[in-house]
Amino acid sequence: MLDSIKKIFSTSDDDQPISTIGKPDIIRTKSAELFEKAKTYFPGGVNSPVRAFRSVFGTPLFIQKGDGCFVWDADGNQFIDFCGSWGPLILGHNNSKIRESVAEAMQNGMSFGAPTLLENQLASLILKNNQFIEKIRFTSSGTEAVMSAIRLARGYTKRDKILKFEGCYHGHLDSLLVKAGSGLVTFGETSSAGIPKSVAEETIVVSLNSKEAVEQAFGQFKDQIAAVIIEGVPANNGLLIQDVDYIQFLREICTANNTLLIFDEVITGFRIGFEGAAKHYEVRPDIITYGKIIGGGLPVGMYGSSAEIMSQISPEGPVYQAGTLSGNPVAMAAGIAQLTELLRSGFYKDLNKKTQEFVDSIQRFATARNYKFKVFSIGSIFWFAFTDKETIKTAEEIDAASMDKFKTMHRELLNRNIYLGPSGYEVGFVSAAHTKVELEKAKRAIFESLDVVFSKK
Ligand SMILES: *Cc1c(COP(=O)(O)O)cnc(C)c1O
Repeated sequence: MLDSIKKIFSTSDDDQPISTIGKPDIIRTKSAELFEKAKTYFPGGVNSPVRAFRSVFGTPLFIQKGDGCFVWDADGNQFIDFCGSWGPLILGHNNSKIRESVAEAMQNGMSFGAPTLLENQLASLILKNNQFIEKIRFTSSGTEAVMSAIRLARGYTKRDKILKFEGCYHGHLDSLLVKAGSGLVTFGETSSAGIPKSVAEETIVVSLNSKEAVEQAFGQFKDQIAAVIIEGVPANNGLLIQDVDYIQFLREICTANNTLLIFDEVITGFRIGFEGAAKHYEVRPDIITYGKIIGGGLPVGMYGSSAEIMSQISPEGPVYQAGTLSGNPVAMAAGIAQLTELLRSGFYKDLNKKTQEFVDSIQRFATARNYKFKVFSIGSIFWFAFTDKETIKTAEEIDAASMDKFKTMHRELLNRNIYLGPSGYEVGFVSAAHTKVELEKAKRAIFESLDVVFSKK
């Protein structure tokens, strides 16, 4: 390999040299060139940070096209994709039903900033099939949905404080870009520059899976907590599967304190089942936020609640929330097409079974070889963890040093034409477009990559 390219390939944060074990690197010359150019346009060369490949080797792939479970990069390499645009593509790339629905909607124009039939159609499809919400509002992203849900909770309860969990991600809104300090119950320390301390101080951060911390927070901030927000299943910092008992506990303590319980189902909504985590736990939250899958690959978010709570939203009520492109007809058409497919009988059963077989087989391989490796999964979401723990329920239990192993794994997988999100803290997604053939291929690549990872001293 050319030294100049080698250098570009190793522009990850720590500038590590390319390893000499494992498979030789695939050619990424065109992606590397595009990335250099992109750096002159965008901070870090990207429009969302994790895309920059800073936690793995090499340069990000510039994707040229996707079809089914495959993507192709600018150099013409083909990959089996387990990132799925970070979750939205539950039917795979370039699904023909979605494409046709979008093309048809586009014949009539792209945006009106006025109500359309398509908004009613998507809303009716959702509300008829979701027992946990009565009224909704569409936004254009998950972040917007969560931001609006937080404002709604504060407006409804007339309280200011929000309780969140360390290890949950809710988008990039100021109030929730906070992390725990040291101590059981802490005010958020900002996890980004540019967030006023006064804003962060309205957010209380506690560890997942700790009843004691939540109880202490409610004691300390009596009648001040507007909402407790938790991801349906925390899936943005590893996959931190919570016990149903814990979620029931949150429901009870919120009810007892007149605090709203918010499920952020931007990942889990329409993913672990049409009705997401609420149905999985059989726990009724007060507000639910959605995004990702709901737009079929186009930008759509949504929040929903009871008719009573939603009546607080303007123009019915005093909580202001708006959006120029909210309910965009083209995006609605994509959502309608995607959700219609998800409602077909057996859709989730098949997808989840296929995923279960895939992860079971990987786990069997790793266990047989005594590798310190565990695949956690729920529905069609999976997470590769380099650990010997049987369960990981809190962010604190994740061993940061194990991310080095993921880094090697990621490179070995790319070199075997398997694409995973470029960080060991990110989960993977199986789509309906992954067939047995590709899952078999992927498994073989994963086995080989694990062998490489664990052959290193
Ligand atoms: C992705 C995500 C968000 C943010 O959604 P965007 O569309 O990226 O703004 C919020 N909450 C959860 C749980 C997410 O996974």
